[in-house]
Amino acid sequence: MARRFDAIIIGSGLGGLIAGALYARSGRRVLVLERNETFGGAAAVYKHGALAIEATLHEMDGLDQDDPKLPALQSLGLDRDLEFVDVGDLYEVRGPLIDPPFVLPHGLDAALSAAVARFPHQAPALREYFERMSVARAALSFAARHQDDSGRWWLSHAPEAVRRLWPLIREGRATVSEVFDELFGADEAVKLALGANLGYWHDTPDQMLFLRYAVAQASFLIGGGHYVRGGSVALSNRLVALIREADGVVENGREADTLLLDGRHIAGVGHHVRDGTDPQTDFAPVVFGNAAPHRLAEMLPDASREAFLAPYAGRRVSISLWTIAIGLSRPPREFGVERYSTFILPAWMKTFGEIQEAAAVMGDDAGTRLPGYVFVDFDRIDSGLNQEGPFLGSFTGVDRLENWTGLSQDQKIARKERWMDRIISDLDKAFPGIASAVVQREMATAETMQHYLNTPGGAVYGFAPESIGFTPKTAIEGLWLASAFCGSGGFTGAMLGGAAAARAAIKETSSR
Ligand SMILES: Cc1cc2nc3c(=O)[nH]c(=O)nc-3n(C[C@H](O)[C@H](O)[C@H](O)COP(=O)(O)OP(=O)(O)OC[C@H]3O[C@@H](n4cnc5c(N)ncnc54)[C@H](O)[C@@H]3O)c2cc1C
Repeated sequence: MARRFDAIIIGSGLGGLIAGALYARSGRRVLVLERNETFGGAAAVYKHGALAIEATLHEMDGLDQDDPKLPALQSLGLDRDLEFVDVGDLYEVRGPLIDPPFVLPHGLDAALSAAVARFPHQAPALREYFERMSVARAALSFAARHQDDSGRWWLSHAPEAVRRLWPLIREGRATVSEVFDELFGADEAVKLALGANLGYWHDTPDQMLFLRYAVAQASFLIGGGHYVRGGSVALSNRLVALIREADGVVENGREADTLLLDGRHIAGVGHHVRDGTDPQTDFAPVVFGNAAPHRLAEMLPDASREAFLAPYAGRRVSISLWTIAIGLSRPPREFGVERYSTFILPAWMKTFGEIQEAAAVMGDDAGTRLPGYVFVDFDRIDSGLNQEGPFLGSFTGVDRLENWTGLSQDQKIARKERWMDRIISDLDKAFPGIASAVVQREMATAETMQHYLNTPGGAVYGFAPESIGFTPKTAIEGLWLASAFCGSGGFTGAMLGGAAAARAAIKETSSR
């Protein structure tokens, strides 16, 4: 029998769960539909044998007073109910131009001092680099703090607003490559040292907006990197619990297939069990789409699809990622691993622009090139996972779906095995002996991401950060995006997207 809710959420990724939890907390009854058996989308932990494997999270930025997602976390009590573990130094980076390794510490001043100590000839440019990032972050925080203020507030504060928002306007459409070239010229070592973690957002520095990079990187520098103790699943589980405590319904194994409209307004969602059985329709005047907009479009009637998709025309989806999880019989520190995150740049990567070649490398395992990657040692922090061992380590790098298409199942398995052999041996060169401690290993690719997240191309960060624009509103009344596709990717972007969607829907339904 059809049920009626105040809102239906399609997908239980972080954006969907935050939207659902905030909407439920405002006294509305919600239904969450998740096609997978587990909740959380990318925010998940799974167990293989004795090893608990974090599916995605290695660090979440911010959580300082200026972090725009903090109010949503606080209002749901997540800051009180969960433990966010500081991961310490942001990263160590090793590479052909960066020997000995360079360590980027947490804290703007500490990061500037470390960079100036290592690249003293770049001191003035480094000062400008960190200053530009910090003022861009402050400007964004100001905009976020006042986003719900009336037009009258903005008018009466116009001079202050222009002054505070000027850094955002000044950066305009400059790309990461343009700003790095302007500041550091042809000094590729300093660019690679500072931008080694570009893959947290994109792999194309000449397409990524500097503003998007600056705000996100500053959030890591100012607020630090954090892991949720117990894994990202602890965050997902807490959000599911909050929705259920507020009389909401959260269902797994149910795939949404139809968006019902009443005129131009959303009216309900058709869904079924993953094997195609048990079709059902539920009704609600509000739907939060945590699934990618491309998937929501497929659920709409033909006549509405074009208008819905029009705002996203020309926007590329983000990169995907490959990841290798390993179980170790001894902790990585015994082999010389000193940081939670270690970036290892391959021998061929001698310019910052070459970062964009890394994703294609995964499609050519017969070649001589290795991809760049970050190795994460979960035993370095109080992760709450694998306290009895084996010790969890993970490698992550940029991937594309095309790297894995056209191969048979056996060929894919063989290619993954070869990549695991090569990448683990590469780590062993940096930390001799570590390969001999590997007792378990497995690899996920862009294809795995597409399968689990149902995103086009296995995208993991929503749209590519090549433009500015942040709106959960869609062309269909009552249908809101609530995911990394609203504005920016990562745990922060997905949560901001979900919170923005809930706020907008509450405002609109309250004013009726
Ligand atoms: C390997 C890896 C490492 C990462 N590391 C980090 C990190 O260290 N820090 C960080 O901040 N971010 C990281 N990210 C990115 C981050 O995990 C994502 O950007 C973020 O979690 C996306 O959340 P989301 O809410 O947009 O949706 P998703 O997590 O993509 O979830 C979407 C959900 O919708 C469901 N769905 C889709 N279609 C339907 C349908 N028709 N019916 C019902 N349900 C549907 C899917 O099953 C899925 O559960 C990483 C990602 C990956 C893959």
